Amino acid sequence: SDFAPEVPPPIGRVLVFVNPHSGTGKALQVYKKQLDPRLTDANIDHELIVTKHSGHARDVVVERTDLATFNAIIIVSGDGLVFEVINGLLERPDGDFLLQKLAFGVVPSGSGNGLLASLCYARGLPQKQPLFTRNAIEHVTDSDAIAYGINLTHMQTDTKHFASFMSIGWGLLADIDIESERFRKVLGSQRFTFEAVLRIFGHLRTYQGRLSFLEAGPIESRPPAQFNVYSKTPLPDESCPSYHSRETSAASDSHSGCQNDQFWQGKHRKPEASIVSPLGEAVDSKWTVIEGEFLFVYVTSVTHISPGNMYAPSAKLSDDRIQLTYALKKDLPSRFALAKFLDAIESAKHLDFDFVKTVSVTSFRLEPDNAKPSSYIVVDGEIIDCKRIQGTVSDVHIHLMSK
Ligand code: ADP
Ligand code: MG
Repeated sequence: SDFAPEVPPPIGRVLVFVNPHSGTGKALQVYKKQLDPRLTDANIDHELIVTKHSGHARDVVVERTDLATFNAIIIVSGDGLVFEVINGLLERPDGDFLLQKLAFGVVPSGSGNGLLASLCYARGLPQKQPLFTRNAIEHVTDSDAIAYGINLTHMQTDTKHFASFMSIGWGLLADIDIESERFRKVLGSQRFTFEAVLRIFGHLRTYQGRLSFLEAGPIESRPPAQFNVYSKTPLPDESCPSYHSRETSAASDSHSGCQNDQFWQGKHRKPEASIVSPLGEAVDSKWTVIEGEFLFVYVTSVTHISPGNMYAPSAKLSDDRIQLTYALKKDLPSRFALAKFLDAIESAKHLDFDFVKTVSVTSFRLEPDNAKPSSYIVVDGEIIDCKRIQGTVSDVHIHLMSK
């Protein structure tokens, strides 16, 4: 009738994952007090999923048949949940399509939000709290929100293929990341520093293994794709391609986490990277091979490994290389130097230490000596259960929201 108020149609629809366990456990509160009201104000429809356990978000994105009806997936957590969601999508036969179609939004409430920190750094935005979270909420609910392309690293173990968006660690830095878990509730992101001190001046472990890598040639930076999130019209439910025929696909074995390696064919960023030999076969003669007693190996594809920690200043969001750093026990002058190295990460001066080697690579392979005590292999903050691992820079992108 003449008096019916005009209700404008929503500007979009998003799927929101909240990990109530992330960071110091405040994610649900961030959602309720800040994100939910903002979504309503911005007239964005949303569906909320509060994760019940590790792997829950992955199961949802593997099983849902209506993902193309959303403009974006918003993750209220740390990098770990982002990792789950991306790799869940890549397990699907239509994963490629969904990665191009869906934007990702991160509302930081974890103890590690390196991915968003890297995008904020690239966009000249602050990473200090409470602005970091507040801005993120503004950006993911802005009708003009833009999603920026960030390329993924193709990872391979003996049993599966998957993607990394941030880091691969083994040795000291990986152990700090994982074993600081026990201080999560009390210390939040301070847990990393605390664990580091305990480790260096307690029992300093070393790790035997072989590291191989293919050095990158001259830099080749392409402007990453970007799109306007809410002006993209989501597709009607029934038009999600190929997904309904998944019975016939290799990905129906969804719980193995084993992703069809055909997906990655032709998706490597450099031609020579596509001739990476399978694990178990020798690397090409162009590769460098180092065998020894390591303190750590750390590979990064973005600048930041957590807010305020710029581990790889020269990394670009979308380029043809990843940054490899490693340190051998034989090069370490003293434990004090190791402590100074860790302390210097915050001021991004850590790569000035002589015992730390830095190389830009297109591919790397890490083969711990499994007969000796080893460390966790940690990808994007998550433990990967494997005997060896290799990675290659790829042309597969996610699109992360910012302003
Ligand atoms: P943080 O930055 O605080 O570590 P993450 O997003 O990295 O936060 O999440 C840490 C881990 O919590 C991930 O491995 C994720 O799978 C797991 N997880 C997700 N939901 C839950 C839950 N409800 N309970 C326990 N763990 C969960
Ligand atoms: Mg984490």
